[in-house]
Amino acid sequence: MAKEHKRPDGRGLTELRPMTAKVGVIPNADGSAMFAFGNTVAIAAVYGPRQLHPQHMQDPASGVLRVNYDLLSFSVYDRKKPGPSRRSQEISKVTEWALSPVIDLAAFPSTVIDVQIYIIQADAGTRTAGINAASMALAHAGIPMRDLICSVAVGKQDKALVVDLTKEEEDFEEGEGATDFAVAKVANSDEFTLLQLDGKIQPEIVKEVTRIGAEACKKIYEVQKKALKEVIEK
Ligand code: UDP
Repeated sequence: MAKEHKRPDGRGLTELRPMTAKVGVIPNADGSAMFAFGNTVAIAAVYGPRQLHPQHMQDPASGVLRVNYDLLSFSVYDRKKPGPSRRSQEISKVTEWALSPVIDLAAFPSTVIDVQIYIIQADAGTRTAGINAASMALAHAGIPMRDLICSVAVGKQDKALVVDLTKEEEDFEEGEGATDFAVAKVANSDEFTLLQLDGKIQPEIVKEVTRIGAEACKKIYEVQKKALKEVIEK
């Protein structure tokens, strides 16, 4: 059954959209990067570490990672109302959780590392593209990290598992409908830092979702590494 599923853009079930990545796209930031899955384009800028204000929010034992995710008004077909929303707050939070485990925040007590993520064009998978861009931007800023974080959405279309869904695929309604499972993992370990399910999935399939996600993350890691190397070699 799964093998018969045809994707609207003709991709294989576990084929990612074409990826583009570039490091150093915002000269005034301490670190920056762009990451795209097809028509989904994310830009991330890192500022800091710098002293956290107000002072009562400072943690003398650790720095704080503060992410602000924003889907820009004209990034989507139906103009999105500008400004923060429940959705943007949720994505900012899960992005902080996805990235924090690889960052040595204890090395920067009482400080904040600000990560601004802008989605300038959206065709689903924006939280995952944002995490990929932010991970590269943090490395570019010279923040001590034990590895990069790679992220992708694995989806279920009726009974077939597919990787890196487009908006059209997220809206799939046939059979069991569409499920979207965003995963993020530490590039060179089996540690997952985000597993976020939107929809329904049988518990016995979750292992296969993480396996497919981990395979896709290997390809994402290569793209991230290549973009970082291009800047270091310059
Ligand atoms: N989207 C939209 N308007 C909005 C929010 C989302 O058109 O206000 C679209 C956009 O293409 C986005 C997709 O819906 O990528 C899926 O959004 P979701 O909240 O599932 O997160 P994402 O897949 O982008 O991480």
